[in-house]
Amino acid sequence: MERHPKGLYLLFATEMAERFSYYGMRAVFTLYMVAALFTMEGASEVYGYYTGLVYLTPLLGGWVADRYWGNRRSIIVGGLLMALGQGLLFLSACVVRPAIHEAEGAIDPAVDNGMAVALMVGGLFFLVLGNGFFKPNIATMVGRLYRPDDKRKDAAFTIFYMGVNVGATLGPLVCGVFEGDWMNPTRFRWAFLCAAVVMLVATGVFAWLKNRYIVTHEGVPVGTEPTHHEKAAKHQLSAKEKQHIAVVFIIAVFVVFFWAAYEQAGVSLTYFADQQTDRHIFGWEMPTSYFQSFPAVFVVLLAPVMSLLWDVLGRWGHEPSSPMKQAMGLGLLSLGYLFIAQGVKDVEPGMKVSMWWLTGLYFIHTLGELSLSPIGLSLVSKLSPKHLASLMMGVWFLSSAVSNMLAGQLATLYPDGSPKSLLGFSIDSLEDFFMVFVVMSGVAAVALACMTPVLKRMMRDEREKKEVKSEE
Ligand code: GLU
Repeated sequence: MERHPKGLYLLFATEMAERFSYYGMRAVFTLYMVAALFTMEGASEVYGYYTGLVYLTPLLGGWVADRYWGNRRSIIVGGLLMALGQGLLFLSACVVRPAIHEAEGAIDPAVDNGMAVALMVGGLFFLVLGNGFFKPNIATMVGRLYRPDDKRKDAAFTIFYMGVNVGATLGPLVCGVFEGDWMNPTRFRWAFLCAAVVMLVATGVFAWLKNRYIVTHEGVPVGTEPTHHEKAAKHQLSAKEKQHIAVVFIIAVFVVFFWAAYEQAGVSLTYFADQQTDRHIFGWEMPTSYFQSFPAVFVVLLAPVMSLLWDVLGRWGHEPSSPMKQAMGLGLLSLGYLFIAQGVKDVEPGMKVSMWWLTGLYFIHTLGELSLSPIGLSLVSKLSPKHLASLMMGVWFLSSAVSNMLAGQLATLYPDGSPKSLLGFSIDSLEDFFMVFVVMSGVAAVALACMTPVLKRMMRDEREKKEVKSEE
């Protein structure tokens, strides 16, 4: 088998470091907020807006790259902005003061943490902007290292996705060491500083090595500014290109339901890990944020297994099509929540359950993620017209934007003693809460599976006929 271009590994390493920074900060972020700044419900909302907006700005970053800057410059600008954002969070945690009233267990309004909140909001602003320039462009460059019809693209995106998850594993493990608490909220600053430094170093290394490695096999530089001619050209889309774009939009709508349920990891499932999961292993109590590394570790372990599975199924002529893999991802997500819903039957607030329930959920979710996420990136890269490749990646991440905002809202349904309801159904227990996600992703899975034949027809064109056939 032909080797992958060296540039893939530079993109792997750069994205690994960026995801370290992103997930490292994210693992402690809600804990930081509830330790001194907001109630649990307020923190869930801030978290939802933040994780939503970071995936909204890729539309802007993708457009700017396709039109003006190219992918390389966008990544460098994005990386620097994110390092600045993490730096401001560091400053926020430097000035924060303990604010939880010991007797009441709630925020004491007499403590003024206005400066810490202002610095935090400033930090989030730069993180949101920076991610917009970084995230769609690094993924687009993976696709650009290969010719459009190169068979190695799915494998390339799976390798790249492992990079995402090595970073997502290490980030919470390292930053999680610096978990503070309500008595000592300033301790969180080291977690944010760590995220800032890693981001800065990654951007520097990328800027240094990009000219040498980010080139195709033929040595053509990738991700440079669009030429004058390209900028001036009027881009008419053919009917087939329009259909391809429509497929990306349709699948992206379904993917919203995937991430809205999956991304509970950083919020309601973190509260669950914190308050209702026995985290003792041989006498050692594992930090809550470590749980957020679980899915990422599972991705790294299971990615080769899943590739092998597709390979074997492919040889027998039974490899599912890309849209069907997305539907399977949604189905597995639903199954994961069904599993944990069993574990929390009759569990009262304050009672702790075995960590196997959460571990099992993350295991099943990861199988779903691998079926959906890298395959989705590869699909976008294959279906996008070249001059719109980064913008289309932005469109793809738009589904993560909507879902992350939705995730924050859905997390406010997490039982905390106050009455909760959704669409007229009351949510009285943890089991009810988890069943919301069983139903949501289950319905989306079935609907997408039913639409798959139509989507496959839309994806097909004369040149790709052979390729799609091998996927069926
Ligand atoms: N784990 C993926 C990443 O961080 C999620 C991407 C997404 O939400 O689309 O890259």
